[in-house]
Amino acid sequence: MPVEIENDANLGALAEMTWGAGRECSNFAYIKASTGIGAGLVVDGRLLRGASGTAGEIGHTTLDESGALCYCGNRGCLETVASGPAIIGLVSSGHPETLTLAQVIELAMDATPAAGARSRTPAVRSASRWPACATSSILNA
Ligand SMILES: [Zn+2]
Repeated sequence: MPVEIENDANLGALAEMTWGAGRECSNFAYIKASTGIGAGLVVDGRLLRGASGTAGEIGHTTLDESGALCYCGNRGCLETVASGPAIIGLVSSGHPETLTLAQVIELAMDATPAAGARSRTPAVRSASRWPACATSSILNA
């Protein structure tokens, strides 16, 4: 049986194109932010891999040449400020204990934890209202 191997961001984009938010879109970017950051790019209904297969490898894009040292050896990569470990580090600096990613997400989702109310932050509310093809507008901008 033939077996194909693909990176996780590209597979995420293919899954969204087949069963998810990308079904009605011919152009979109699936952004995977976890331990690393990558993108699966769909252009004209097809996965865009690029000439060397690295089209969506955005995690080591330099944002700040004098920024934090990245594990790749460069400074100020996107992953140094927006990956799961980077976000945990930034949020944990204000807390006495080390937080897990699940706790960080919980904090972001819970606007008023002291009151016990479960309401979402304005950013989360805004993101949840984005139309399914909003990312294609960004790509076409
Ligand atoms: Zn890097």
